[in-house]
Amino acid sequence: MKRLIENYTHDELKQEMIAIGEKPFRAKQLATWIYQKRVDSFFDMSDISKVSQQRLDELFQLSTLTLHTCQISKDKTRKYLFKTVDNHFIETVLMVHDYGYSVCVTSQIGCNMGCAFCASGLLKKKRNLETAEIVDQVLQVQKDIDKDEMRVSNIVVMGIGEPFDNYDNVMKFVKIVNNDNMLGIGARHITISTCGLADKIRKFADENTQVNLAISLHAPNDKLRSSIMPINQAFPLAELFESLHYYLAKNSRRLTFEYILLKDVNDTLEHAKQLADLVGGMNAYINLIPYNPVDEHSFSQSDFKQSMRFYDYLMKRKIQCTLRKEHGADIDAACGQLRIKVEKGTN
Ligand code: SAH
Repeated sequence: MKRLIENYTHDELKQEMIAIGEKPFRAKQLATWIYQKRVDSFFDMSDISKVSQQRLDELFQLSTLTLHTCQISKDKTRKYLFKTVDNHFIETVLMVHDYGYSVCVTSQIGCNMGCAFCASGLLKKKRNLETAEIVDQVLQVQKDIDKDEMRVSNIVVMGIGEPFDNYDNVMKFVKIVNNDNMLGIGARHITISTCGLADKIRKFADENTQVNLAISLHAPNDKLRSSIMPINQAFPLAELFESLHYYLAKNSRRLTFEYILLKDVNDTLEHAKQLADLVGGMNAYINLIPYNPVDEHSFSQSDFKQSMRFYDYLMKRKIQCTLRKEHGADIDAACGQLRIKVEKGTN
């Protein structure tokens, strides 16, 4: 079987080239052709000899996902459904912000975290995505928007899956998209979101990257958090926050907390108070997220008035926070919804 070239960091690409008897500078040439000129074939790489093109084509494969569908919503959000070589579907979303174009990538096929409100976990984890499969999501989206002369400026690892349950492949993905000879997306423009694997948060802290970290918090006390997020039983809040303080001590980046407002579950003023007590004083801000209803779950969205009350309370307590806009609600762009419909045959 051919090896997937998107699995290799720049350094690894160099090693691969040396191993097959090519000059080390081939790595840089390849990176430029693949990630910057974005060609689809080794035979388009015009400054590489025919013989080398042939050899590279025999050994390596450039792309691994096939596009199944792309939906575009009224707010210009694009949702891509890709198929892997072993016939799994994965979703990738492109969001249009005033600051640029942000791609939300999937990190696993299914998810084992079992958060009670989330559509992704309805399909259990089948396997981790390979680095190349995560890289290819961004590259294919970039190729699609090349037609409109747009450039991916930000990446969020917030699609299906728990990125820290696929730690090594995700970190390698970050290296590849970040490398200046490859996609060159600044580390500060990349965000990894985790439901709170404290051991991996410490490991991530030790890497000392500029990559942003977001924590899916969603509840301000252990009882509630454990009831909606099983991961809290393995890493309760005290342990999670110990790892976050460790991260903040080692990194200068501001943390993000994600907090979905779930009607009558976590959206009262008492919850807001507990949340402010928990997060106050940290170099962090809270992203309040409107819930995107999932057919299979009974949670519903907090009404606007209650959301504003919650937000105002946090502001009064001088907690930095934002009330996030919804993107792509009209095209099932939220969290595993399209994939579930396709797999159930209703789309
Ligand atoms: N496993 C990682 C990343 C994927 S989920 C994590 O938990 O952070 C990305 C974000 O979407 C998380 O904050 C998750 O809690 C949130 N989310 C899941 N289902 C949602 C829904 N139906 N509506 C709004 N946000 C949701």
